[in-house]
Amino acid sequence: MAEDSPIRTEALIVGGGMVGMAAAVALAEGGIATLLIDSEPAEERVSAGYDGRSSAIAFGSQQALDQLGLWAAMAGEAEPILDIRVSDGRPGEAAAPLFLHYDHRESGLAAPFGHIVENRVTRRALLARLAALPLATVLAPAKLAKVERSADGVMGELADGRSIKARLLIAADGANSALRAAAGIPIAQFVYAQTGIVATVEARGFDWLCGQVEELLAASTLLRVRLDQGRATDRKVCPSGEACALAASAAPDRAPAR
Ligand SMILES: Cc1cc2nc3c(=O)[nH]c(=O)nc-3n(C[C@H](O)[C@H](O)[C@H](O)COP(=O)(O)OP(=O)(O)OC[C@H]3O[C@@H](n4cnc5c(N)ncnc54)[C@H](O)[C@@H]3O)c2cc1C
Repeated sequence: MAEDSPIRTEALIVGGGMVGMAAAVALAEGGIATLLIDSEPAEERVSAGYDGRSSAIAFGSQQALDQLGLWAAMAGEAEPILDIRVSDGRPGEAAAPLFLHYDHRESGLAAPFGHIVENRVTRRALLARLAALPLATVLAPAKLAKVERSADGVMGELADGRSIKARLLIAADGANSALRAAAGIPIAQFVYAQTGIVATVEARGFDWLCGQVEELLAASTLLRVRLDQGRATDRKVCPSGEACALAASAAPDRAPAR
């Protein structure tokens, strides 16, 4: 049963992932009182075990994060993408002789193509920024159980019985957003029918790794990132200090047998 007196806010964001938190920072910075809720406790969402993945933050996204006052807290733990090499071929056969190689020094930007950042680093920076913004409030754990829309906004009900009244509801509840589906907002989906591997590896060198990966997988995209040996105390650093992000994919009938 919802309590009589609802929590009131201008914007209610459901979902405290990277998308929800970034939206909350932008709105609160823009002068809009924002309440962000997530069904998971905040400290759990920044723990090492919660999400061990990294994301490639493109140059434009990095500039957006900078504008939101977030990049300074992330830069020290971000690895710049210096080269991108894309190759094609079939497993079990030699890679196609032609490949694409992009070198950041030739891009004209005088900056890396982007950065590889661990998701928890981004989450930590977002949470810290939200804590510093007077117009932002984070309520977690708090699960939205029900929502009713009307002409002047929404009334949400949490699983614990509390209710929230807001003028705007933002559905940031993940890729398979239940809120988006409930609102009848359609999405376009494509089945790529690809089997993929995404990994970060340390190798004897970028060119050596390209050769190894192409021999094994034929089709791949490799990003060369700089590994800062000074701060990578919790990692095994190979003598060359080269770290690479690897993304390889193939149609299931072309993927190597396990
Ligand atoms: C292998 C892999 C690699 C990827 N690499 C990249 C990359 O390099 N670059 C990139 O940009 N993207 C990448 N992505 C995509 C990216 O990870 C996701 O798009 C992004 O994490 C989605 O963030 P989000 O905030 O929308 O959702 P999520 O991180 O899924 O957050 C949704 C949140 O909503 C909360 N929630 C859900 N329902 C409720 C409810 N009813 N009440 C309260 N809270 C609720 C959940 O607890 C959750 O915390 C990758 C994805 C995968 C799978």
